[in-house]
Amino acid sequence: MQEAWIQLVCPECTAEWEASVKDLPASGEQFQCDQCSGYAPTAEFTKTARDLEVLRDLS
Ligand SMILES: [Zn+2]
Repeated sequence: MQEAWIQLVCPECTAEWEASVKDLPASGEQFQCDQCSGYAPTAEFTKTARDLEVLRDLS
């Protein structure tokens, strides 16, 4: 499977980083921010609509 990197931004602390989709949980599952330890569905961390689309397609 091709590796896809997407832009993430935390809805709590607004930290931004890139992650490989294969290392992320599915879009509706809880994901924890490394910076503030806040939890939100992975879909809420995606920065752009395109990033969300890639996450939903590949996870
Ligand atoms: Zn955060």
